[in-house]
Amino acid sequence: MLDWLKSLLGRRGHFAALDAADFPEFAPGSVWLVGAGPGAPGLISLLGYHALGQADVIVYDALVSERLLAQANPGAQKIYAGKRGGKPSPKQADITLQLIDWAQKGKRVLRLKGGDPFVFGRGGEEAGALFRAKVKFRIVPGISSGLGGLAYAGIPVTHRETNQSVIFLTGHDETGDVSPLDWPAIARAAPVIVMFMAVKHLGTITQKLLAAGRDPADRIAIVSNAASPQQSVIESSLADAGTLANVPTPAIVVVGPVSAYREALDWYVGPARENGFG
Ligand code: SAH
Repeated sequence: MLDWLKSLLGRRGHFAALDAADFPEFAPGSVWLVGAGPGAPGLISLLGYHALGQADVIVYDALVSERLLAQANPGAQKIYAGKRGGKPSPKQADITLQLIDWAQKGKRVLRLKGGDPFVFGRGGEEAGALFRAKVKFRIVPGISSGLGGLAYAGIPVTHRETNQSVIFLTGHDETGDVSPLDWPAIARAAPVIVMFMAVKHLGTITQKLLAAGRDPADRIAIVSNAASPQQSVIESSLADAGTLANVPTPAIVVVGPVSAYREALDWYVGPARENGFG
């Protein structure tokens, strides 16, 4: 059994129900697409942590924390494959080919992605390419910044008093233009809208929501660098949000009443309490 698992089982009674079958072997020649969570290293799953300890090659993206990477198998080769900013990404094909290539060389390949690999993270594209290349793969979900990142700012993505639905969207498409969505429908459909990659086009997006009849006084919160020591939150109204300048990125923008709960639920104040227990 794996050493780290053994020590968990030994130290913590409540892990006793776990056994090695819950942590399958990371087979040579396979690729695991693992969600690293929104920032704080502790937010990766146990299965993701298991993979980190065994990987031979780790291909990681820009949003993965250095401190999490420091937990990896010391012998692993770490390859940065970051892309930022919603520009066309010619490198995506190269990243995918690289995963296939390492796997075909018999390596245990860990593709480590920020948040959850299947939430605006191209995990589906990469896994599809692995499938076509007949490379074995596994998906290890992660805590998306659109959920956990907001929780670190004291914002519950749903609350019984305010919303029974939520929309997740990306602010730009693959060309970098504002996403060609049915904005009037979105404005009406849900009280809470969680927007990834929305800072660049925030002025245009807020205009589209207002033009569709969304209340100018509707709340906006922007959570930047969530779940990291640099986390910061800007609050505004829908009417004013378009004029905000110098919003740090990466950021999640949330429209709707749920950010009002920050008053009671905001618990994370950055470096001093990075583990949440300071
Ligand atoms: N798969 C990721 C999203 C990748 S798209 C996830 O599930 O979280 C990249 C976008 O995610 C960024 O532009 C930003 O909108 C958001 N994001 C990722 N990490 C973030 C963080 N720590 N804080 C705020 N936003 C973040």
